[in-house]
Amino acid sequence: MITHHPADSLLLKHAAGAAHEAVSLIVATHLALCPACRRVVKLAEHAGGILLENLTPEPLTTGAWEHLAARLDEAEAAAPSIVARSGGTPTIPEPLRSYLGADGLDKIRWNFVLPGLAFRPLLPGPFSAKLVRSKPGSSIGLHTHKGEEFSVVLAGGYSDCSGQYRRGDFHTATPDLLHRPVADQGEDCIVLAVTEAPLAFRNPPIGLIASLIGY
Ligand SMILES: [Zn+2]
Repeated sequence: MITHHPADSLLLKHAAGAAHEAVSLIVATHLALCPACRRVVKLAEHAGGILLENLTPEPLTTGAWEHLAARLDEAEAAAPSIVARSGGTPTIPEPLRSYLGADGLDKIRWNFVLPGLAFRPLLPGPFSAKLVRSKPGSSIGLHTHKGEEFSVVLAGGYSDCSGQYRRGDFHTATPDLLHRPVADQGEDCIVLAVTEAPLAFRNPPIGLIASLIGY
């Protein structure tokens, strides 16, 4: 049961194709797991279609149609599908799976951060994307943010002062949030995280390690 969702403004930005690639990836990953938000995006796309239909026609410049068709082809090639592959419940839904180049979490090569914590970079910044794996009970430590941070839980769960996050939940952290997420007991917690800027750690040695390894 998903209880944390992206803001409507973020869903609309994604629907309009105006979000950064990493932000679009994390919203699409949530959409693959959340029927409620898929309905919102579908409505937004429908509304966008009506707006386009009501625009006053403008004369086209020479080659405008060919240019538009080429751009649509490019967008289609780049756009991740939100449809999961057939055959059982995927641990990693599309479109995220396409970014990993592997079919399962067990094939991912993780980079060590701290005992119990590992990550796998996916997209460089601005708005960098990475997978983070936390053993039960582990934490990256108390930190705040220099920009926005979006997270979607893929397996397990974690908790902080703002609530508990389970598979599919979408967490938006802003610079005013000081928190210490701790992985829930049970299974490993695996999160897709998109950060606008590096985290600001309250423990300087952890901050030094994080900056050295590009966390
Ligand atoms: Zn949702």
